[in-house]
Amino acid sequence: MSIKAQKGTKDILPEEITNWQNIEKIAYEVFSKANFKEIRTPIFEDTALFERGVGDTTDIVNKEMYTFTKSDRSITLRPENTAGVVRAYLEHSFYRESPPIKFWYKGPMFRYERPQAGRQRQFHQIGVEMFGVEDASADVECIVLATEFLKGLGLNDLVVEINSLGCSVCRKEYKEQLKKAIAPFLSGLCEDCRNRYEKNPLRILDCKNETCNKLFEENHLKESVSGIKLCNDCATHYEKLKSYLDALNIKYVENTFLVRGLDYYTRTVFEIKSNNLGSQNAVCGGGRYDGLVETLGGPHTPAVGWAMGVERLNALIPKLEAPKIDYFVVSDNQVEAIKLVDKLRKNGFFAEFDYTSRKFAKQLEKAAKIANYAIILGEDEIRNNYLTIKNLSDSTQKKQTFDELVINN
Ligand code: ATP
Ligand code: MG
Repeated sequence: MSIKAQKGTKDILPEEITNWQNIEKIAYEVFSKANFKEIRTPIFEDTALFERGVGDTTDIVNKEMYTFTKSDRSITLRPENTAGVVRAYLEHSFYRESPPIKFWYKGPMFRYERPQAGRQRQFHQIGVEMFGVEDASADVECIVLATEFLKGLGLNDLVVEINSLGCSVCRKEYKEQLKKAIAPFLSGLCEDCRNRYEKNPLRILDCKNETCNKLFEENHLKESVSGIKLCNDCATHYEKLKSYLDALNIKYVENTFLVRGLDYYTRTVFEIKSNNLGSQNAVCGGGRYDGLVETLGGPHTPAVGWAMGVERLNALIPKLEAPKIDYFVVSDNQVEAIKLVDKLRKNGFFAEFDYTSRKFAKQLEKAAKIANYAIILGEDEIRNNYLTIKNLSDSTQKKQTFDELVINN
């Protein structure tokens, strides 16, 4: 049996690559304007980084990690990139530099999930992380970066949802309230939720299990809890966030039940959703993680960031055609053809020739598929040192020397 790509992984073929290149180009342009610098961290890390950094009550750490042992070391393929970026931030002592420190990244992530539309096992994220600023202006900078990036991709009809999870003090009372409300139907919830009940009851609100969601509705869970009651500092931070968003005319919806899947978030959390993606409707998720740098052994450092799923972005963007090359050289003289193609490329053109000296008709057929112009280089052209250039969209032809061709373009 022939070997196939692994379940939940996909080849990104040349016919799709224009979209990917376009997304990455726009990311680079938008983030560079805001002075975010690209960082590339390794695809595999010490397993402990994710256990500590993502959190041991998360689905990611409990069920979704690709972990293996090499030379007695437990290694994991990164399921997300915030932990890796924080590790690099610490390892290279960026905290000694004057804040803010602003990074962006792109690359593959790995999660052992049930593959379905919009959900793969190897997928790609583009994300930003910003270190050193506690003020909500950093949260807004990140949200604006996300909306500008999406606008750059032609995606305007997306909804920004925001919430504040407060700090551990604010959450304490809410956790008790939630637990009280959930207790009567706890035994009917999924195993994950029953585990979360003691460890991190907030995460129960993020459960995707249908039975659980039905039980929440039947028991009016959302109506029976008040939402997090923020302490003064957290409330001020959240009010500031909203006033900055208003000042920049960024529309948002407050969702008091937005909790996000990772353990490390504090205060601001946000998601950007599309109505055109079915049930995997989130393209972007992020928030503030003021405790993470410390958790991973560094000094207390406020930080905020987000990640977007590139496959989900791609599903919302029309397919771009790959650009055609400029010239296809049609000739039965291989040496002259290869010399001409070389000269064209050195002058900045995209050029190819037919490597087989097939009949001119066949070569022209190929040219019409991949190039804007064919350059016919027959016996007469070679002897008299000119080129016959055929415009492949309107079939007009003209004769030019090589120098004329270069000057006229
Ligand atoms: P979801 O709720 O859809 O599982 P998540 O909360 O696990 O998302 P994050 O870890 O915040 O997602 O990742 C940010 C973004 O990465 C998501 O909004 C989504 O667009 C994308 N993403 C996450 N997991 C996958 C996956 N398995 N396949 C494709 N894209 C993914
Ligand atoms: Mg998930």
